[in-house]
Amino acid sequence: MTGQRIEVRGTVQGVGFRPWVYRLAQRLGIRGRVRNDPRGVTIEAFGPEKLIKVFIEQLQVDMPASAHVLELGSHRIPDESPEGFVIESSDLRGDKSLSIPPDLATCPQCQAEVLDPANRRYGYAFTNCTACGPRFTIATGIPYDRAATTMRRFDMCPACQREYDDIEDRRFHAQPNACAKCGPTLSLTGLDGDALRATDPLKAAADLLRRGAIVAVKGLGGFHLACDAADGAAVRLLRARKHRDEKPFAVMTADLDAAKAVAEISAEEEALLTASERPIVIVRAKDRSSIAAEVSPETPFLGLFLPYAPLHHLLLEAVGRPLVMTSANVSNEPICRDNGEARRRLDGIADAILLHDRDIAMRCDDSVVRVIAGTPTVMRRSRGFVPRPIHLAKPVSRPVLACGAHLKNTFCIAMGDTAYFGPHVGDLETVAALEFFEEAIERMQTILSVRPEVIAHDLHPGYLSTRYARAQNDAILVGVQHHHAHVASVMAEHEVQGPVLGVAYDGTGFGEDGTSWGGEFLLCFADRFERLATFRPVRLAGGDLAMREVWRIGYALLHDAFDGQPPIDSLPLFADVPPQSIRIVSQMIERELNAPLARGVGRYFDGFGALALNRPLSTYEGQIAIAWDHVANDAVREAYPFALDRNETPMEVDLRPTVRAAVEDVVAGRSPADVSARFHNTLVNLTVEVVEGLLAEVGDVPVALTGGVFHNARLAGGVGQKLASKIRVLRHSEVPPGDGGIALGQALIADAFLGDKG
Ligand code: ZN
Ligand code: ZN
Ligand code: FE
Repeated sequence: MTGQRIEVRGTVQGVGFRPWVYRLAQRLGIRGRVRNDPRGVTIEAFGPEKLIKVFIEQLQVDMPASAHVLELGSHRIPDESPEGFVIESSDLRGDKSLSIPPDLATCPQCQAEVLDPANRRYGYAFTNCTACGPRFTIATGIPYDRAATTMRRFDMCPACQREYDDIEDRRFHAQPNACAKCGPTLSLTGLDGDALRATDPLKAAADLLRRGAIVAVKGLGGFHLACDAADGAAVRLLRARKHRDEKPFAVMTADLDAAKAVAEISAEEEALLTASERPIVIVRAKDRSSIAAEVSPETPFLGLFLPYAPLHHLLLEAVGRPLVMTSANVSNEPICRDNGEARRRLDGIADAILLHDRDIAMRCDDSVVRVIAGTPTVMRRSRGFVPRPIHLAKPVSRPVLACGAHLKNTFCIAMGDTAYFGPHVGDLETVAALEFFEEAIERMQTILSVRPEVIAHDLHPGYLSTRYARAQNDAILVGVQHHHAHVASVMAEHEVQGPVLGVAYDGTGFGEDGTSWGGEFLLCFADRFERLATFRPVRLAGGDLAMREVWRIGYALLHDAFDGQPPIDSLPLFADVPPQSIRIVSQMIERELNAPLARGVGRYFDGFGALALNRPLSTYEGQIAIAWDHVANDAVREAYPFALDRNETPMEVDLRPTVRAAVEDVVAGRSPADVSARFHNTLVNLTVEVVEGLLAEVGDVPVALTGGVFHNARLAGGVGQKLASKIRVLRHSEVPPGDGGIALGQALIADAFLGDKG
């Protein structure tokens, strides 16, 4: 007889892991116990040595589908010869938080039950079990049990209660367990709040959708606006009502086969699509797919996702076609949460609302993932990921709240050796967004039972997140430079302490000198950085207006590259711009009036894209950069010249020669595909050259690629490939490269900066 203590780390709580261990132990005749602990699950197993070996082997195969084991270690302990095998109540010393997992997509068994006419849950939209269902979005407090969820007001019927109490049952201690007799119910209402007289709300909603209507659907973390993805007129109607001109909509298909009918899906993408996080996955659309062109105009990509709640499975089944499923919000406001709010805010957008009476405790938008140059990269980390813990190589000395950035805001709370991202808040530009931000921080603090002693924020004094931080008076404030935070986020993901040479390319970020940075080469340590190189700045005539009227950036590039004599007459871009506007912009640049300098590499994408694609306007952040990437001809290997100005401190990358060569190509009638490829190749070359030059000075340190511009696979892949043979290259995976990922870096820099001072 022997004893082993087995420690399992990863996502193993709230996913049916302990009952599964129990059943396995019963089957093998192993005695002992299993319990949750702050870092996962601990098992103490006693029995004959051979059987224990089999037990440990079996633990690693055939585990619950939603369990995600990072680490499994075991060591011998003295034999205790206990009676039988028991599930012990949770060991909640320290952090109770971990008992709340992220929401889990419907498991195959529940899905089968819902679609099986013989099953008692046939057609029941709120079916779940220990392996699947809502978690974080229904949690109102801790510890995670039914009384601390929005399921509290539904009393289980005897049949559900039996399942809940039976350790042999798949629904043993499944907190949101319910059935049609006792659980939440659906209703379909018009916007005036009248319940439409529908005996079957789901079928009625499906009928409306098939007829081209727009239906708001209440889901797990918020509402979606749905319409038939094959119906161009319905999609145009949705765009018009939502005031969203061109930004792509996500599409939900009934299953993987339906997804494969409309897009090229690699094995890696398939794994992401079917994972329990069920994110939106950006994939390449098939040429002749049944998805209306209006869904994602001008990009060859589609944001696809599969149903993640039984409600979605049933709805997609009833409609029989893929659906556009886009977050139900008004332009930049956060996603809707409660029924009354949805009725108010979706008035004039949705024709009807498919509601239910289970409250959403925590708003959580859909997450977005993309395979970027071979690496699955989370671009928006929210439902399905939040509040999954991120392990920190070096524990923080005190709890830190990091407030994130301005656009695509997420915040982060670090405590001990763990960090937690909050849900995607979005652009912090409206009162509604700020309210969501404050409420989500409050809720996360409750769930984690923590009060931050340190608050980290961006250096930009105007950001609402910065103002929020400054309004808190019971914590130490630490301002963190934007790009330093970007780099620290990648470092954290790879558990690297530094020094690291960070390459941070993005649209904008407040620099230590008060100007806008965004093409930064930073030698980063845990608590500080040295700025070694940057990009020559571009003048943004009209400030933020230049981000929408990107011709202004194109003009500024020309003005700089051609010494104040921009050859606008030979470029078709300017044919449609009023001469009056051009004159004003020219004066703004020359007189340096309301024309701030910006070093963001993203601005170069906007400017070159505008010039070569003849695109004067951008209707959403990143639109031109994305179009510019997509148009590139993969076969083109040539690049344009560039210069490095070593007289500047820090050294500056000078793209004036690049602008002149690209203009020559455009004027000569070269295709945008060729010009774009050459532009991208130039950026790859210059990045590699600058990095190699800097490494020669600072020694061989890892190189980190970060910032929203590295969503660009051509750039991330090109630079990664050229450098990887010589040096360790760190790229993002679990944490977004864009501003949605910087809060983690902010938290760690603030902690390291304070050291023992706090
Ligand atoms: Zn299930
Ligand atoms: Zn029931
Ligand atoms: Fe950024």
